[in-house]
Amino acid sequence: MQGLMMDHPLLISSIIDHAARYHGDTEIVSVNTTGGEHRTTYAQLRARALKLASALQKRGMEKSDRIATLAWNNHRHLELYFGISGSGLVCHTVNPRLHPDQLVYIMNHAQDRMLFFDKTFLPVVAAIRDRLPHTAHPVLMEAADDAVKAEHPWIEFYEDLIGEGDEDYAWPGDVDERDASSLCYTSGTTGNPKGVLYSHRSTLLHAMMSATPDVMDFSARDCLLPVVPMFHVNAWGTPYAAPLVGAKMVMPGPGLDGASLTRLFNQEKVTISAGVPTIWAGLLAHLEQAGEKLPHLTRTIVGGSACPPSMIAKFRDDYGVEVLHAWGMTEMSPLGSVNNLKNKHFELPEAEQRKIRESQGRPPFCVELGIFDDDDNQLPNDGKTQGNLYCRGPWILNEYFSGEGGSPLRKGWFPTGDVSTLDEDGFMTIRDRSKDIIKSGGEWISTVDLENLAVAHPDVAEAAVIAARHEKWDERPLLIVVPKPGRTIDEAALLGFYEDKVAKWWIPDAVKVVEQIPKGATGKILKTALRAEFGDALLSP
Ligand code: ADP
Repeated sequence: MQGLMMDHPLLISSIIDHAARYHGDTEIVSVNTTGGEHRTTYAQLRARALKLASALQKRGMEKSDRIATLAWNNHRHLELYFGISGSGLVCHTVNPRLHPDQLVYIMNHAQDRMLFFDKTFLPVVAAIRDRLPHTAHPVLMEAADDAVKAEHPWIEFYEDLIGEGDEDYAWPGDVDERDASSLCYTSGTTGNPKGVLYSHRSTLLHAMMSATPDVMDFSARDCLLPVVPMFHVNAWGTPYAAPLVGAKMVMPGPGLDGASLTRLFNQEKVTISAGVPTIWAGLLAHLEQAGEKLPHLTRTIVGGSACPPSMIAKFRDDYGVEVLHAWGMTEMSPLGSVNNLKNKHFELPEAEQRKIRESQGRPPFCVELGIFDDDDNQLPNDGKTQGNLYCRGPWILNEYFSGEGGSPLRKGWFPTGDVSTLDEDGFMTIRDRSKDIIKSGGEWISTVDLENLAVAHPDVAEAAVIAARHEKWDERPLLIVVPKPGRTIDEAALLGFYEDKVAKWWIPDAVKVVEQIPKGATGKILKTALRAEFGDALLSP
């Protein structure tokens, strides 16, 4: 016997419909790429998304066609998110920080039919557009501009395009919740990037769970500023979760430096934010130097790479901001775990609670985590045994776009490439990427732990630890650091800082001081580049 309830599909269009219906006057504040701010509401956002969808249909876009965006977090990008996916097309967010050859590869692989871009990216679009045979209409996300048109006659303007759309357009009725809604490529530090194709259903489930108190904890009482870019795993799903609950949004545009963010946080009374540790390092440095505070911000989600415990403590002790340490991947929409305590933990002494807060947290409903040995045998969740982290659930990738690379699954689980421990409560601690972990004389050393300690040292701005080849131990840790401005690094003192904090044999063998640590397109340290440069540093000449 079937249940007798209405069968409404879980569609991305339903999120913006709800927001416009019940939170129609809730504001979205957006920093323009060309300067200044724009204020709009959920009602206006929906109206313009519908007009945009109508215009796309008039241009001959058909169901499941891919439409690319190269854009910052701003109101037009939000309109594209809902206009494209809402009308059954696929919103393909492309990371503008990638090398032009990778942009060309990705957009041709996806066969994007149109491309929307912010003015910042005009030079790169001008340089690559002849290499994009599928992409007919590059659209600059601005109002018409004669000077730009004179220089680049091939450009169309976003506001002109929206003007072509019908006012009374309605979302098409043939979109199924299992249809593709958006596409995001992994950053591909090794090999070509691979496409992760989300569905309406996976996106809605992810957004609904994200908003719950033990996950990102969003509500209509909040004002959210997502620093994490909309071109990086859909800004962790925040552009869906915020309208779903009717939270006010502040879209920061291109200015992600500490001073610009602080101004926005305080001017708009932002209560919650989300971003990677490098962004927060910049913000904290600014606050300290300028002597500013964040009186309205209560919490921020930090993920994408390990959040050092010293950062969690600084946010809490100096600024009254709770860090929600989260872990995830492009292949997981991206949420895999978020750190929030349980009721029983409040009985524990403060120091123990803080310790629990340092891990990557526990999985929400819809994510199952397991750790496995190299033969795919499941290992115990005892908080000690370390193994390959696998996951499964309705918002986790089944296969890559266009079947790239065959099925990635192992026994029905998706292998994350991370090495971790997992305890009985589901608290998961990332020990390393499996390709970064150091094997010293057959024993594992976590580069994450060593990096977290190094950045707690007062002279260190940034740190990376790599496995350097070693004649006796096969691999040994090598610490690479960028000093804070005006500080010098005393190698012996820095290594001495590890004494009593880690096992003796974990202490790095040497320190290299550099001006800059190479980063990939999503701001993560490029360990491959560091290994290429310093991998032999411990071998005798
Ligand atoms: P890519 O894998 O292409 O670099 P993702 O953004 O999908 O891009 O990165 C996912 C990976 O980032 C995870 O598998 C993990 O190694 C790392 N990561 C994400 N969040 C955390 C975190 N909180 N702590 C440690 N590592 C993290």
